[in-house]
Amino acid sequence: MRSVDVADLAAGVRAGSRQHVARAITLLESSRHEHREQAEELLALVADRTGRAVRVGISGVPGAGKSTFINALGTRLVGRGHRVAVVAVDPSSRRTGGSILGDRTRMGDLAASEAAFVRPSPSGRQLGGVARATRESMLVLEAAGHDVVIVETVGVGQNEIAVSEMVDTFLLLTLARTGDQLQGIKRGILELADVIAVNKADGDGEAAARVAARELAGAMRLMMPGPAARRPPVLTCSALTGAGLDEVWAAVLEHREHLEAEGSLEVRRARQQQDWMWALVDAHLQDAVRDSARVRASRAEVEAAVRSGGTSAVEGAARILRLYADDVRDEAAPGSGRA
Ligand code: GDP
Repeated sequence: MRSVDVADLAAGVRAGSRQHVARAITLLESSRHEHREQAEELLALVADRTGRAVRVGISGVPGAGKSTFINALGTRLVGRGHRVAVVAVDPSSRRTGGSILGDRTRMGDLAASEAAFVRPSPSGRQLGGVARATRESMLVLEAAGHDVVIVETVGVGQNEIAVSEMVDTFLLLTLARTGDQLQGIKRGILELADVIAVNKADGDGEAAARVAARELAGAMRLMMPGPAARRPPVLTCSALTGAGLDEVWAAVLEHREHLEAEGSLEVRRARQQQDWMWALVDAHLQDAVRDSARVRASRAEVEAAVRSGGTSAVEGAARILRLYADDVRDEAAPGSGRA
C-alpha cells in the first residue's frame, strides 16, 4: 500500500464510494505500525456515522448453505432498498492468502449489486487480528451507508464467540439432523444463537428439516428452561428456493426489536465496547512484548531452553516479561532520548 491520505479516505467512505471503502478496509487489515495509526485516525473520522446498521452474525458448518443463504437473503434485502454488506471471520482458511468465506464468486448476484459490498475474511492465523479487522471493517461499511451488515463465520466455536461479540443478533444455520446427531451441534454454539434456521428444507429434504427443527426446539427447551420468549426460535428455510427466508429475517428483526425495547441493545453494545477495549489492550501488549528489542534478541534462546526442559514454561514467561519490562524502563528513562 502506498502513502495514505486519511482525510480523503474518510471523506470518500462517508460519501459511500466503493473504491474508498475497499481501500479503507485494506488499510484496516494491515498490521503494520504506521497503518495502524492511520487506521485509528480513519475510524475516528467516521465514528459519528457508525452504529446504525442491523448487525447480524451467520454461522454454520461448511456446506450448511451460508453463502447461498446470504446471497439469496441479501439480494432480497437490496430489492427492498437496503444496502447490504457482507464481511467474514475465518482465520483458519488461508487459501490464496484470503478466506473463501465472503468470496464474491460464492455470492455472485449480491456481489454484483451496486447496493451491496462483499468482502472475504482477512487472512491471518490469529483469530484476534482477523476479528479486529472485521470489526473495524464493519464500522467503515456502516459509515459508508450500509444499513445491514452480515458477518459470516464457520462453525468451530472460537470464531462464533468472536463474531457474537460484534453483532446484535446471531443466526445459526444448520442442517436436518435428528436424535443422536443433534449432539454433534456444539452446545456452546447453540447457547450463542439468537435465531436458528434448519436450511435445505426443500424437495425430499423438507420433511426431514421440519422434524429436525421440532427436535432441535425440544432440545433447546431442555437446555434453556424458562419462558419460551427467551429461547431462540427454530425455523426452517430453503436458501435454494427462497422458502422461509422472509420468516428467518423477520425473526432476526424481532430479536433486535426485543433487545431495543428492553434497552438491552445499548447494554449489549456497551459491553461489546468494553470487551473490545480489553481485547485491543491485550493485542497491543502482545505486539509490544514480541517487538521489544531485548525479547527479540533473547527469544530464540529462551524458547530453546523451554523446549529442552531446562527452563520451565513459567520461568520462561517470567524471563520474557522481565526482558520486556527492562526495555520499557529504558524507554521511559530520562536521557534515553525517547521519553
Ligand atoms: P456454505 O459452505 O455453508 O457456504 O454452503 P454453500 O452455500 O456453499 O452450499 C453448499 C451446497 O449446498 C451447495 O451445493 C448449495 O447449492 C447447496 N445448498 C445451499 N442451500 C441449499 C438449500 O436451501 N437447499 C438445497 N437443496 N441445497 C442447498
